[in-house]
Amino acid sequence: MVTLTVKQKRIGPIAGCHPWAFSQAFTKIPDGIQPGEPVRLESENGLFLASGYFNSYSQIAVRLWGYDEAEDVNEDFFARRIERAYQQRVRYVERPGTNAYRVVNGESDFLPGLIVDKYADYLVVQFHTRGIEFWKKEIVAALERVIATKGIYERSDVAVRKADGLAGIAGLLGGTIPDVITIEENGFKFLVDVRHGQKTGFFLDQRDKRQAFAKYTKDAAVLNCFSYTGGFSVYGLAGGARAVTNVDSSEAALQLAKENILLNGFDAGKCEFVCGDAKTYLRDCSETFDAIVLDPPAFIRDRRKRQEGIAGYKTINERAARLLSGNGILATCSCSTHLSLSEFRYLISEVGGKVRRPLKLLEVYTHGIDHPRLVSFTEGDYLKCLFVAG
Ligand code: SAH
Repeated sequence: MVTLTVKQKRIGPIAGCHPWAFSQAFTKIPDGIQPGEPVRLESENGLFLASGYFNSYSQIAVRLWGYDEAEDVNEDFFARRIERAYQQRVRYVERPGTNAYRVVNGESDFLPGLIVDKYADYLVVQFHTRGIEFWKKEIVAALERVIATKGIYERSDVAVRKADGLAGIAGLLGGTIPDVITIEENGFKFLVDVRHGQKTGFFLDQRDKRQAFAKYTKDAAVLNCFSYTGGFSVYGLAGGARAVTNVDSSEAALQLAKENILLNGFDAGKCEFVCGDAKTYLRDCSETFDAIVLDPPAFIRDRRKRQEGIAGYKTINERAARLLSGNGILATCSCSTHLSLSEFRYLISEVGGKVRRPLKLLEVYTHGIDHPRLVSFTEGDYLKCLFVAG
């Protein structure tokens, strides 16, 4: 196995269990190492530090996956890591009424670049890097061994792969996948289209926020902006909402939202489905609402366009705050990695100032527990959600 020596002054993050090692951290990287090739990292005094896979000669050269020098990388290696990650979800997330969750969250489950989501009896996987893709065969075999599944589908049609010069791919890796999978979440049913849906089909990372939302919706007029397939709407109706307006730019998502509302036995007659731009809807709306959800796609996709993204968040939050009734609550989210929780909180405080309405923080959420993050790995943070009262 290739050994790479870490410069003494660059040991800190590796010793602190950060999962990335940048190319400048090494004294030298020999030519010819293939993406995916296992490497040992050692200090300049020859002490073993960590193991990982080589990914690229630029930027993040090595992604770490272990601290056991004797470990070989093969199907068993992947099975052990998947088993550990899976058991954590089985213990902490799965229960009667909840059978959909993230099984593997990349770096933070010591499988950098790999995402595995479980939807009832089916798995959806994403390979984000060249290095992890090299191990696809072993990973799929390990998944089939550890998790009883009827089918595995790949949704590696994601933009992050461009950084590694990889095209997006999607397709069946094993078994069969129905057109629509019915999952259960906190006792509610949702239809998930893993082939065409966004991300891997469902926003599993919002499970806990959706559940929290239900307590605010008794007799409420709810506005669910960026509603996707109606996740927050179903919980809002369960909490006793008198009316729910869903706004999304995707007609297919709204169609599923309607079906999800019916599937859970709620009256779709109480609901409106508006296909269009949520920013414009918020600008032109003249009604008020008792509970508003804002869960937009990431407005800051690129650090260099931070200001534009921040302006976008301010605009929608200001418009929503103006539509909030006297006792209303706003559940506002941002899934931009390049905006921290404290920056988002500050932005929302500015919104309160702008609309002359001091906003009171009721609850703060980040990722659900099936999206764990290594404490050291702040780069893995993206989601934050503030529940504020007007
Ligand atoms: N809250 C949802 C997830 C929202 S994901 C849930 O719990 O499942 C973001 C959604 O925003 C997607 O459904 C996408 O179609 C929609 N979207 C993106 N741009 C939009 C726009 N300008 N106006 C309205 N919806 C938009």
